[in-house]
Amino acid sequence: MTTYWAEHAWLRGGLAIGVTLEVGEGRFTGVQPNTAPGGATRLAGVVLPGFADVHGHAFHRALRGRTHADGGTFWSWREAMYAVAAGLDPDSYLAIARATYAELARAGVSTVGEFHYLHHGPGGVPYQEPNAMAEALRQAAADAGVRLTLLDTCYLSGGLSADGYLPLEGVQLRFGDRDAGAWAARVADIAPSEGMRVGTAVHSVRAVPVEALSTVAGVAGPLHVHVSEQIAENEACLAYHGCTPTALLADHGVLSRRTTAVHGTHLTPSDVDTLARTGTGVCICPSTEADLADGIGPARALRDAGVGLSLGTDQHVRADLLAEARDLEMYQRLATGHRGIFDPAELVAALTRHTDLGWPDAGRLEPGARADLVAVTLDPTAEPAQVVFAASTADIHTVVIGGRRIV
Ligand SMILES: [Zn+2]
Repeated sequence: MTTYWAEHAWLRGGLAIGVTLEVGEGRFTGVQPNTAPGGATRLAGVVLPGFADVHGHAFHRALRGRTHADGGTFWSWREAMYAVAAGLDPDSYLAIARATYAELARAGVSTVGEFHYLHHGPGGVPYQEPNAMAEALRQAAADAGVRLTLLDTCYLSGGLSADGYLPLEGVQLRFGDRDAGAWAARVADIAPSEGMRVGTAVHSVRAVPVEALSTVAGVAGPLHVHVSEQIAENEACLAYHGCTPTALLADHGVLSRRTTAVHGTHLTPSDVDTLARTGTGVCICPSTEADLADGIGPARALRDAGVGLSLGTDQHVRADLLAEARDLEMYQRLATGHRGIFDPAELVAALTRHTDLGWPDAGRLEPGARADLVAVTLDPTAEPAQVVFAASTADIHTVVIGGRRIV
């Protein structure tokens, strides 16, 4: 058993002082505030529960600092991303994912949600082991010491226009299975393991034809979907289906309590109601949404409607979950002209929503929960309860994941 003593720690009721945290067999066995350090390992500053990076694509990390010279839009950035995808194989996928996940562990992430769509070899030819790329991600997470939820992503069409679905072309062939049944059969062969759970994803209403949605929704586990990141997606969906992406997904059984809608940037008030009514969570990815000029979503309206919010690094334009949490608030300030749209407790809740990745026993400093913690040095002028507004990855001095000290 290991015993830590935290100067300050974020417990269910808020910030507590002098907290002793006992760890055995990967879980907290005792959490007691108002204690003296005794012989425990001291953790200075503020201790937070481990973070959940609910949405990301590890290989996008290769694009950091390489796409800013030519301007453009989300759609021109996507061409650069496709060029990276075209050159990867299971060995290089493992190398880049291992580095990405190690960087996330350093940033306090204990569970990574990998929205995985690069399934097959060049031209869409399956590898001899059809899930070789997924297995590379499993290995990468194990090597980095983080838990992984592999969200195996269905991707069957190359886009949606007013005239219908487009065929896969170029590197997109690597993302696609023959049809939804072939996708489901391949996913069924991915076994969960100690550090990895298996979920699924609908890439978007652009990439999964409407008749395939119920097949994806029929597979158990966490279900994620990119929703309304770009106005063009909404326009195409309205032109062809006569409704918003959120409405289409709801009509075909994709939205429920086990679903996370990623981005939700361009939502109507009716979409917000639908997400709330169905119990769907929304994952905001502030650095990516700014980097790709997506826009600022209605995060406060979602929360007020009862939607649970989580955070994702998405394209790994930076590895700083504390900054993602802070920017959830900051972009709302820029959009509204008001401060304090989200309070610090709401930001910590968004940082620690492991439930969206199928790990309901993580994200809390309490007995029985998985022993994940992030210890952050407190700036001398900052109030401990406002640590999220003062700290970055550089201030993290200790990360424990499942009882193992990783940083
Ligand atoms: Zn994404």
